[in-house]
Amino acid sequence: MLCVVTGAAGFIGSHLVEELLRRGHTVRGIDSFVPYYPVEVKQRNRAGAAQHPHYTFFPIDLRTDPLDEAIRDADVVFHLAAMPGLVASWTQMDLYTACNVTATQRLLEAVKSHCPRLSRFIYASTSSVYGLYANGDESLPTRPVSPYGVTKLAGEHLCHAYEEAIRLPLVVLRYFSVYGPRQRPDMGYHRFIRALLQDEEITITGDGKQVRGNTFVSDAVEATIRAVDAVPGETFNVGGGETASVWDIISRIETIVGRKARTRMAPARPGDQRYTGADTSKIRRHLGWEPRVGLEEGLKRQIEWQRQETIPAPSTSPPSTHPPTEDSRRLR
Ligand code: NAD
Repeated sequence: MLCVVTGAAGFIGSHLVEELLRRGHTVRGIDSFVPYYPVEVKQRNRAGAAQHPHYTFFPIDLRTDPLDEAIRDADVVFHLAAMPGLVASWTQMDLYTACNVTATQRLLEAVKSHCPRLSRFIYASTSSVYGLYANGDESLPTRPVSPYGVTKLAGEHLCHAYEEAIRLPLVVLRYFSVYGPRQRPDMGYHRFIRALLQDEEITITGDGKQVRGNTFVSDAVEATIRAVDAVPGETFNVGGGETASVWDIISRIETIVGRKARTRMAPARPGDQRYTGADTSKIRRHLGWEPRVGLEEGLKRQIEWQRQETIPAPSTSPPSTHPPTEDSRRLR
């Protein structure tokens, strides 16, 4: 199978690329190293697959670059590239709109022209499309409470428009809080673990009682690959099944690391969801998928990975809208 993975240098995308190669597929990866978190981290993410004989990496930007060479004749497109994270989405709307909506539409246009035998287009969506309480099955109303969620939902709708117009064989996956090795440095568990390992204060936003469904990255990748066999037109929740509050997570991390956390409270972040917990009956029924890595084991694996991390924490300044650097363009 000739697979194209967008967002191939990102957290989930880099794991997906490695797993597809491990299963014997030919893979083309696309990523423009949007400097939302350090480019060095993304370079490391993609290092494992870089030399594989069946892998080609295209350091191109879905917003602006020609896409024909990268996607020509693909059997499956896994579209994971996006500007993730809700905090910056309040102030960087142009960037979020460009990466999550415009880029998706350019990709869909390119697919229309250059992928005559496409069997599936998998769109990586998010529990953020549901809103404050993402607690149920796929029929929950979609009322996102952050600009990020709005742009991801717009991406879903765009894909559905192409499904209607050109019979795009679309499958939508709504991931719920993915964690594990290579988790983005802006994400909660990454920040908590980093602070605890460096004996720094952990900042807790809101009352810490917000609850997350948790999906270990290998389970998210397995669901994504199984989605290739899903009936086109379907949408699936992807969630690990174990929910936990922020306080609960901190206490688990304390136990694993063997150190007491120092915490400070900060105001709740606008757009933060109160409760996310996926009902995954549908993906279990349709695709036989079920999560394999429990929260305890998953946190241990992430902590182990973060112990080996050497790249310093990113600055707290807002993401830049600068195009990829020359360095990133030379990576091919
Ligand atoms: P990530 O930021 O690590 O990966 C996304 C990658 O896309 C980045 O490497 C970025 O450089 C690339 N990218 C962004 N815009 C691009 C463009 N215009 N052209 C080319 N490349 C571009 O994020 P992630 O956590 O791995 O998320 C992957 C996908 O899963 C995203 O679509 C996100 O919305 C979705 N998702 C993630 C989570 C989670 O918990 N991590 C939860 C729900 C949904």
